[in-house]
Amino acid sequence: MANLKFSEDVIRNVVSQVLAEVGPPPANANTGGNFSSVGSSPSSFAGRNGVFQNADEAVAAANEAFELISQRGKEDRKKAIDHIRRIVTDQAVELGTMEMNETKVGRLEHKIGKLQALGEKAPGIEFMNTQVFSGDHGLAVIEHAPFGVIGAITPVTHSLPTIAGNAVNMIAGGNTVVVNPHPSGKNVAAEGVRRFNEAIYNDIGVDNLICVVANPTIESADAIFKHRDVKLICVTGGPMVARAALKAGKRAVVAGPGNPPVVVDETADLENAARCIIEGAAFDNNLLCIAEKEVFVVDSVFDQLMSAMERVGGAVRLNAAEVAQFTSVAIVQVGDDNHDAPSRDFLGQDAAVLARGIGKVVPEDTQLLFGETDEHNPFVSVEQMMPFVPFVRCRDVDEAIALAQKYEHGFRHTSIIHSNNVRNLTRMGRIMDTTLFIKNGPCMAGLGLGGEGYLSFSIAGPTGEGVTTPLTFTRERRCSLVDDLCVLGKPKT
Ligand code: NAD
Repeated sequence: MANLKFSEDVIRNVVSQVLAEVGPPPANANTGGNFSSVGSSPSSFAGRNGVFQNADEAVAAANEAFELISQRGKEDRKKAIDHIRRIVTDQAVELGTMEMNETKVGRLEHKIGKLQALGEKAPGIEFMNTQVFSGDHGLAVIEHAPFGVIGAITPVTHSLPTIAGNAVNMIAGGNTVVVNPHPSGKNVAAEGVRRFNEAIYNDIGVDNLICVVANPTIESADAIFKHRDVKLICVTGGPMVARAALKAGKRAVVAGPGNPPVVVDETADLENAARCIIEGAAFDNNLLCIAEKEVFVVDSVFDQLMSAMERVGGAVRLNAAEVAQFTSVAIVQVGDDNHDAPSRDFLGQDAAVLARGIGKVVPEDTQLLFGETDEHNPFVSVEQMMPFVPFVRCRDVDEAIALAQKYEHGFRHTSIIHSNNVRNLTRMGRIMDTTLFIKNGPCMAGLGLGGEGYLSFSIAGPTGEGVTTPLTFTRERRCSLVDDLCVLGKPKT
């Protein structure tokens, strides 16, 4: 054991020497405190706090910030991230209210909850590990280097939470970011970014680690995609932006759409299943891309599950006529191909607003509407993003899993099952092959909320990175040192 201890110490020593050689230049004189005491020369974009009118200027500022942060140690990245965590936690009520008032979709308490959860659970600098291989032929150190400036596109469904989560991940990896937010969430995006940068600049003297285009358009998104100084793209949104990113001609991390199905079999704890479906599907009025969107239930327990849904509280059942009427007002046909889509009148609205759409009065605090449909009801195939969930009766679990696979549309995003049959759990996991697969819990358990793991609001299915972490936004670099510093190999003769 004594020898092993000695070897570890020696290795640690050698590794730090190697890292000193291959890593960034040593941190400058800054040891924290106010910018005024740092002594750095003022930069051309310093003091702008990340808010820019056009994409070119935003990229130039982010590039300048990248040069500056690259000269600092990890400690300064950690300080920057800690400011973002502190602001989204301490100012969650104010910023969440701002987001709710601007976007007008979702539920206020959940806007606040998402920001607070991010502060606690978004993975930061602690994910930045270094691997070391040592042996007869010396030493190899594998470390994770930044890409540089990353271009990010964010959705209206979680404008500031996505920006904050992306920023924590990306800065931990040593990058800076330019965000083109959804136009309907641009003000809260700019205000959040301004607050983050102001606090970071005052502390470490580097401004514009996170830049935002104040008046985002498809053209500004395109300019970011194509900009030669943007080294990586990260988009979070629906099918159009996912496709645009994949065509951009550079590496893209794509967090695309989902339509998560739920399967409930005859062995499930039905009370728990009902509670979980309501909790997940009603969260932020069904805006989450991971939220329960349609439920396939084995016939033998279908009626019992519907009763449990009514009994556990928070959900109101629509009868067949009401479901038909609601479908006719809440699903509209759009585009050249007349495809089904959720009506903007109901998207992200409260369940009571949905009910009023068909002249039905339900308690104002109702969280979710639900009803029986067949598989052909458009609510089954469309990502509705509103708190109405269709329940489809299935012959057996095999049919339920087959329909779940069909209506997940091959996104491989998220799927959920309630079952106590290990064979069914395993079978569905294999068949769905989704990035998130949740068993016997609400969807958010898959993001570490009530389940294990960490949180990000960018779940990259199409490009395979999964729930993003700092490592998603890094390049792997290997430094090999041949023979000379080998401590475990044969002594040199
Ligand atoms: P959206 O696709 O309408 O917009 C997303 C972003 O893309 C916006 O900033 C928008 O301005 C931009 N955009 C749209 N078309 C573009 C194009 N052709 N070129 C460049 N930019 C373009 O989506 P939304 O309504 O804001 O958000 C909801 C969608 O996002 C849902 O489909 C949901 O599943 C998905 N989403 C996915 C994740 C994930 O982690 N996978 C997370 C949140 C939301």
